[in-house]
Amino acid sequence: MPGQPITMRVQKHPVSAPHGSAIYELNSFHFGPAAEKRVYIQASLHADEVPGMLVAQFLRRRLTALEAAGKLRAEIVLVPAANPIGLSQAVHGAPFGRFDLRTGANFNRAFKHVAAELKQTLEGELGDDAAANVRIIRRHARAALAGWKPADDAETLKKTLLELAIGADIVLDLHCDNEAVLHIYSGTPLAAAIAPLSALMQSHATLLTTASGGEPFDEACSRLWWELAQHFAERHPIPAACVAATIELRGERDVSEQLAEADANAILRYLTLNGMLELESADENPFPSPLCAATALEAVQPLLAPQAGVLLYRKALGERVEAGSVIAELIDPVSGESSQVRAGTAGVFFARSAFRHVLRGMNIGKIAGRTAFREGQLLSL
Ligand SMILES: [Zn+2]
Repeated sequence: MPGQPITMRVQKHPVSAPHGSAIYELNSFHFGPAAEKRVYIQASLHADEVPGMLVAQFLRRRLTALEAAGKLRAEIVLVPAANPIGLSQAVHGAPFGRFDLRTGANFNRAFKHVAAELKQTLEGELGDDAAANVRIIRRHARAALAGWKPADDAETLKKTLLELAIGADIVLDLHCDNEAVLHIYSGTPLAAAIAPLSALMQSHATLLTTASGGEPFDEACSRLWWELAQHFAERHPIPAACVAATIELRGERDVSEQLAEADANAILRYLTLNGMLELESADENPFPSPLCAATALEAVQPLLAPQAGVLLYRKALGERVEAGSVIAELIDPVSGESSQVRAGTAGVFFARSAFRHVLRGMNIGKIAGRTAFREGQLLSL
């Protein structure tokens, strides 16, 4: 109604097929005007990665106030608990939210990537106006998603999340690692757009690639743009119209109001920089200096346990290490023999295991190196 203040709308999305044994429902909160600009933020797609859900509480509070004050310039969609299926899972007392217990599928892999289909359907549809092309591509992307026929509840959830996000200008997917300093995954063509976010969040490692393998959520939103730009190069201008990032909010036990409020403030400041909202008052804190320059995801070295054993770390998270530095020691509890795990590359030691006894082959750490040396599947399982 004209003159009525705009207020947040809640949308409920059924996830379960009728007559299943359990009924899951996803909730999305829509703030601000149904504007041309759109921001999408979701928390805890891996359901046992809790920090994002607390950040979402601060975001909800601030967005409600900003909306009441008429300060929103975009529609901002917040999904504070992105994985109701995973949130219901526990194994013998331990929350278990990374994989669907029924199938073993990772909740943040195998999102439908629509670029291949769009290369066909967009033929003859695009013109010389980049903004018009963006609108046409978003329409085709939504149509391609509509054709996705989910095989189970987890796929219905993935389709629902992607439908909410695919038309957004900015997509932020809030995760965390086992034990980690804050780090960010995004696309190489988005380097300049992500740099202020990396500084505001005080990211210790900002890891970029054009394709990580595994089809994670953020890439399903962003990668189609540079793939289509490459495909239609010389013929039609296509900008990288979706800035999407996965933000790893430290480790799974780094859940505190102080951290969550600071993270929410950093996200809102980033949205302000991009013209999506106006803060109630100018942020008087100086713009923070970045902790790192972005590096290639292909330069990340995963450290694998060479044997089973009790795990002792010799480096702190966030430390800069040299090739050959001892990162950890593994002690065989029966023989008492120990072996050292050394860095194979110089860089930032940014993530490590939350376990202190591990089996051979388990991932016990990640180093953000400077020189690309890997290809193919760049994400852990
Ligand atoms: Zn995750």
